[in-house]
Amino acid sequence: MTKVNESFLALRSNYLFAEIARKVAVFKEANPEKKVISLGIGDVTQPLAPAVVSALHMAVDEMGDAAHFRGYGPEQGYAFLREAVVKNDYQARGIDMAPEEIFVSDGAKCDVGNFQELFAADSVVAVTDPVYPVYVDSNVMAGRAGAYADGRWQRIVYLPCVRDNDFVPDFPKTRPDMIYLCYPNNPTGTVLSRAALQGWVDYARREGCVILYDSAYEAYIQEDDIPHSIFELDGAREVAVEFRSFSKTAGFTGLRCAYAAVPKDLKVRAGDGGEIALHGLWNRRQCTKYNGCPYIVQRAAEAVYSPEGKRQIQDVIRGYQRNAAQLGAAVKDMGLDFYGGRNAPYIWVSVPSGTDSWAFFDRLLSSAALVCTPGVGFGASGEGYVRLTAFGTSQDTQEAISRLREQC
Ligand code: PLP
Repeated sequence: MTKVNESFLALRSNYLFAEIARKVAVFKEANPEKKVISLGIGDVTQPLAPAVVSALHMAVDEMGDAAHFRGYGPEQGYAFLREAVVKNDYQARGIDMAPEEIFVSDGAKCDVGNFQELFAADSVVAVTDPVYPVYVDSNVMAGRAGAYADGRWQRIVYLPCVRDNDFVPDFPKTRPDMIYLCYPNNPTGTVLSRAALQGWVDYARREGCVILYDSAYEAYIQEDDIPHSIFELDGAREVAVEFRSFSKTAGFTGLRCAYAAVPKDLKVRAGDGGEIALHGLWNRRQCTKYNGCPYIVQRAAEAVYSPEGKRQIQDVIRGYQRNAAQLGAAVKDMGLDFYGGRNAPYIWVSVPSGTDSWAFFDRLLSSAALVCTPGVGFGASGEGYVRLTAFGTSQDTQEAISRLREQC
């Protein structure tokens, strides 16, 4: 009989969200009159910007017209979008990036999950803890994580991000090959200063590592000293790939568009001792396994960069930022410490002493009909925290805040 890829059997089941759903279902059954509000969701609630919607309509009309119809597009994305990305996200910040270095896709989740294919099977991976689970699970599937024991994969290097280190990961004691960094961070909502990120770029250059930098929440940065792109830092073109998404920037979670910026200067070691650029390999991988993001979606993404598109998405982002600020204030009034929320749509709440992530989850659900995400579900270092998101509607967030205030 055909044998299975055993690495898939090694995967941990997604206990976190299944357990949340189970607990919420039990609560609803027992309290049918109560409206449950979720501060746990990582999905947006506001509709697409009008500029995006009209670009979609126009592109749909083109597709229905023989004179403008388009079939397969370039696997790397249309030039109009790659050029708009470079002009607005890179050149506007003084960053050297060429349109050929941008690879458009249908999501950052696929990109961050797929990129590990370019590295040797025995490469060592480092992740922050807590962590967005895709980085870990995609490497488990690739057979890179080793055995699972005591809540950890034995071949993965964990970089704890906790209150004691101000949520800034320390350099690992053993050299990893790939380092996943996500800033602004999901789940903690914390950021790295320019100096701290430069430290990581310098470390990667010194040690010969590749940084896989996920900046899906870049649009939420409000403070000046926080880099929007890793390529703002000296030398990053030689050691980093950057993943960006239109999901949280412009409400594309259902429409699907993202991109990876892969500089041509980024090289790794080949078996013959020579150096090889990841750019060409990623291009080869995408051309083999991917047929491109839909034309109409790329036109919609292009509209995000139009003057009215920029204004409209800023209004939406400001609304989520307001939610975050108000949620943070309510949590503080409960006497709890929290992190994030200023440059990210996530608030990382330190639960009262004597309790833990799940106990606090239970308390918020039973006493306020509020759903949060227990921090321990994102990794061992998330114990003692819960994550709240600012992506709810303003009305639900206000209602959630008044329920939180009743907890004070
Ligand atoms: N990266 C991070 C850190 C995320 O939190 C998410 C979504 O929640 C993604 C990537 C996925 O983005 P996309 O919707 O583009 O697949």
